[in-house]
Amino acid sequence: MKRKVLLIYTGGTIGMEKDYETGSLRAFNFENIFQKIPEMKLIECEVFVHPFKIPLDSSDMGPEEWKIIANYIAKNYEKYDGFLILHGTDTMSYTASALSFMLKGLRKPVILTGSQLPIGDLRTDAKENLLTSLYYASLYENDEAVIQEVALYFEYKLLRGNRSLKYSAEFFDAYQSPNYPILGQSGVHLNVEKENLFRSKKDEKFSADLHISQDVLFWRIFPGMQISHFSEIPKMKVLILQVFGSGTIFNTKKTKQTLEKLRNNGTEIVVVSQCVSGGISIGKYNNSNIFKEINAISGKDMTAESAITKAMHLIDNPTYKGSFAENFEKNLRGEISED
Ligand code: ASP
Repeated sequence: MKRKVLLIYTGGTIGMEKDYETGSLRAFNFENIFQKIPEMKLIECEVFVHPFKIPLDSSDMGPEEWKIIANYIAKNYEKYDGFLILHGTDTMSYTASALSFMLKGLRKPVILTGSQLPIGDLRTDAKENLLTSLYYASLYENDEAVIQEVALYFEYKLLRGNRSLKYSAEFFDAYQSPNYPILGQSGVHLNVEKENLFRSKKDEKFSADLHISQDVLFWRIFPGMQISHFSEIPKMKVLILQVFGSGTIFNTKKTKQTLEKLRNNGTEIVVVSQCVSGGISIGKYNNSNIFKEINAISGKDMTAESAITKAMHLIDNPTYKGSFAENFEKNLRGEISED
């Protein structure tokens, strides 16, 4: 039996070709993908293409598009065995993270991929990324999907979506998963690291929870920053502070006063690290104790992309019991390491 994969094309370099007369990139009609990559027909799965009407540069992808994708997957969940989303590389980790929170109780693969060079380019990485992603999106064993989570495939590696980050605008090997091992690797054989895969709770039924709030701010601190400017910014539900190393910030009275003021105004403060690898450990240094004193939330080893989209999903979300802080610190989809 051939597995059915729904391919959602959203835009990005992968769906572009070079206009050799002008030298610039332009989107091609994605319905013609089978002509561009005839090898797609050789894959042991049936592919159904659903392109966005207007292909988007991924810097134009955001909450509205995440909802459209999540909703479309939910509507077609029973009809297909797997889902492949073709996406621009710039914000692919944000979309992957957001979808991981929005798609609850997932039992089928949702794979995202893109490319650094357009499909028609002689040295393109698009073909391999697309073909291998299709394999992962249609991989079943004993009538059960092998991947049952939102994953990102790029340059021979399958990563957990909400652990991934784009670190290079130059290399084909553009993504990393610094705090979680890879889920699979494609070499001569297509391999899956089964012990690293996420599984939803047995009793959790599949559903798409489209709740996303945009009441989030993200600030990276830096030496010499005028932290008191925070008290002039409009009221927001969640402020994510990207602090130094394992969770330190300047030890000044002004810092404490400003952050306390924000907390008293009802702003939740989440702390994540500027280091891509490792995470927050409040209390390790004296200069992190301030976060204990103001009851800040530790983002531990989450990526910034994951912390932002998790906050967006949890703010005032009526489907979660308990406080924002309790839910934020919980491991929902394998995005955060447990102590
Ligand atoms: N700017 C493009 C995008 O993210 C880059 C790419 O696709 O690689 O849509």
